[in-house]
Amino acid sequence: MEIPQIKAFNDKLDSYIDQLLPELEAIYKDIHQNPELSMVEYRTAQIAADYLNRYQFEVSTGIGVTGVVGILKNGEGPVVMLRADMDALPVTEATGLPYASTKIARDEEGTEVGVSHVCGHDLHVTWLMGAARLFSEHRELWKGTLMAVFQPGEEVGRGAQSMINDGMMDRFPKPDIILGQHVMVGEAGTVKYRSGTILSAGNSLEVKLFGRGSHGSQPQTSIDPVVMAAATTMRLQTIISREVAPIENAVLTIGALQAGTKENIIPDDATLKLNIRTFNENVKDHILSAVKRICCAECAASNAPREPEFKELVSYPMTVNDAIATEKVIEAFNAQFGNRSYETKPASASEDFSIFGRNWKVPYVFWFVGGTDPEIYLDAKKNNRLNTIPSNHSPKFAPVLHPTLKTGLQAMMTAAAAWFN
Ligand code: ZN
Ligand code: ZN
Repeated sequence: MEIPQIKAFNDKLDSYIDQLLPELEAIYKDIHQNPELSMVEYRTAQIAADYLNRYQFEVSTGIGVTGVVGILKNGEGPVVMLRADMDALPVTEATGLPYASTKIARDEEGTEVGVSHVCGHDLHVTWLMGAARLFSEHRELWKGTLMAVFQPGEEVGRGAQSMINDGMMDRFPKPDIILGQHVMVGEAGTVKYRSGTILSAGNSLEVKLFGRGSHGSQPQTSIDPVVMAAATTMRLQTIISREVAPIENAVLTIGALQAGTKENIIPDDATLKLNIRTFNENVKDHILSAVKRICCAECAASNAPREPEFKELVSYPMTVNDAIATEKVIEAFNAQFGNRSYETKPASASEDFSIFGRNWKVPYVFWFVGGTDPEIYLDAKKNNRLNTIPSNHSPKFAPVLHPTLKTGLQAMMTAAAAWFN
């Protein structure tokens, strides 16, 4: 579509969007109050599937456990896939909102946890439902095939892959473009884009270090895994500071360090859990091999009875937006949002969104929608306190509904419209 066409499309849609907002607000609040953990998003998936059915999509459910795919054919034209993730987090919400979640559920280990949508995937679902309805009701405005995909398990890095493993690529048309968005800290009413790498790769590992347990009063009879773990922890921090070039960005966090039960018992082993974020494949490979090298060397230095064990917990690929496709999205955003559309730096967060594009070998574009009250955001920015705004995954993460609800819907429709003609 040409820019004037995108503008005309958006102008026509604008009043329809406004009429739809009260319904979407009710849907959003319902999903927000009924969050579901990763890979068990049955209720949310049903809501999405029922809605797609109501608006004449061909709907398939239960893909990769709870995934939903809706196809709407509207003549000759490109296949545009829009993706929303559905899962919530094991976090007890502390936003104080009147519609805050009070849900409790059991996680995969059977532990009772508070559950809440503190990553904003409830907004993603609502946006995609709204876009699906509007595209269905205004088929005179576009041509092509719309593919609405509601994905499970983003937070555990398994959902996109589980849909692919469940035959998604054989069962549905190959998209020409895959589009996705995420609500983030940022001025509500704005969108942020980036060509190339927009999100880091994320790799989480568990490392088990083996010693020899003994009485706390007789260290000479032990090989102390606590000392081993402490030395390993400190040495691992030198990978980023000493082995990665200053112009590269990377993060290595040891988020869990567990050993022992009692002050006078030297335990048998210790466990570290690491999270690594990188923006470059070579840096990622180097860090992962350095982690192994250092863990093995520290165990050898302690005279450990056996080599450490490494287990991959989660692995997210980098999200690298296609340059040509991103150019198209930027043009569309500039036409729609003017100076409320910005370029952003890459974020050290990770997504499994790119798994669809990587498997199908088609271009994809992912962008951010600001969800922070503009007054709060601008005040924090002015006073250099942006890091005090509760971010995604904080128990206090609370996107302001207006205008965020409308902006995300506009962004999704505008970007899709750049392909439909
Ligand atoms: Zn998240
Ligand atoms: Zn998320």
